[in-house]
Amino acid sequence: MSLIVQKYGGTSVGTPERIRNVAKRILETQQAGNQVVAVVSAMAGVTNNLIGLADAVTGEGQATEREMDVLLATGEQTTIALTAMALNAMGSKAVSLTGAQAGIETDGFHTKARISNISPAGVHELLDDGNIVILAGFQGKTPDGKITTLGRGGSDLTAIAMAAAIDADLCQILTDVDGVYTCDPRVVPEAKKLDEISYDELLEMASSGTKVMQSRSVEFAKKFGVPFEVRSSLNNNPGTLVKEETMSMESVVIRGVSLERDQAKVTITGVEDHPGTAGKIFGAVAETNLLVDMIVQNVSKTGITDISFTVHKDDVVKAEAALKPILPELGENATMEATDGIAKLSVVGIGMRSHSGVAAEMFAALSKAGVNIEMISTSEIKITVTVSEDQIDAAAKAAHEAFGLSEA
Ligand code: ASP
Ligand code: MG
Repeated sequence: MSLIVQKYGGTSVGTPERIRNVAKRILETQQAGNQVVAVVSAMAGVTNNLIGLADAVTGEGQATEREMDVLLATGEQTTIALTAMALNAMGSKAVSLTGAQAGIETDGFHTKARISNISPAGVHELLDDGNIVILAGFQGKTPDGKITTLGRGGSDLTAIAMAAAIDADLCQILTDVDGVYTCDPRVVPEAKKLDEISYDELLEMASSGTKVMQSRSVEFAKKFGVPFEVRSSLNNNPGTLVKEETMSMESVVIRGVSLERDQAKVTITGVEDHPGTAGKIFGAVAETNLLVDMIVQNVSKTGITDISFTVHKDDVVKAEAALKPILPELGENATMEATDGIAKLSVVGIGMRSHSGVAAEMFAALSKAGVNIEMISTSEIKITVTVSEDQIDAAAKAAHEAFGLSEA
């Protein structure tokens, strides 16, 4: 007998009919001779609606965080009851548990709490009594009993953390796609589903636009060595196995291509080249909690240089507001300029560590496709460029093709 943790996202439980289908799948998994813990998200749209209600009562973003968590936790609480009821109606023994009831303890950072401890004895007892356990994703409680939530998409984290805590044999993230693809199939129809991918590759793809799972949960899985499978809740096709890298995985140079639209570039020109200027710029931006991505600075021949960085286009106004007051401190003639309409293209693969010439190959492919590269940045396993947003699809296709990703 195996112990399996399954996680069903909001779309998979989005309607009563879908909840019944999920219940059927969970039951089949148990009937195949397994113990099952099923983590469920709020029904699609519910969390957003709850946030809208809070905003309507208090003004946008004004709700007290403690009460926000009490409110948001109700989304998952609805789904666990409905799923357990559906299973009971099918004649199966199932019980629902909130995060707190399942022994999930967190720190006190409301709306983005971190799991600090799980005491799964109660879960084991219920399983050993023949129950299916339906567990609310995305939530826990503090040691003094306050309800907390784990950040958007946090049901993934619940599943991974519970799988680690109960030492599950298998953790499956069931979603509305068949797995992790070499690229977004809406952009590159030849994109292929990957059989396997390493934690690091998935993290890099997630941070550069491939939205499959909450990144924190992948980090957690990496830290505690929890392999998991991303697969569809709508069919029985094998999914993508996410795991620690193995030697054989290094023979593939590029695992996938990610793209991210709606980016903007902020450039500060006339920056004096002496210690402390970059610190000032990014200190000011960090104070506004903005996510800054690619940072490019040129060497200065004259003691004056330019610094550029990218942000989401919706954050440009905030970035400009943060930088305007410190411009005079950066240089006598420092100016600032922002342009949107750019997108990021990344190629990701752990094989890059042991293969040379990957950047050259990527740039050659883009040049052949007539795509102009604006900014470039690299990590050990990723190369990212920015291009004009209207060329991003062509750029993705060219990179995908150049690295032979559509070949089986
Ligand atoms: N319901 C939460 C959200 O929408 C958690 C989750 O879906 O994983 O962010
Ligand atoms: Mg969700």
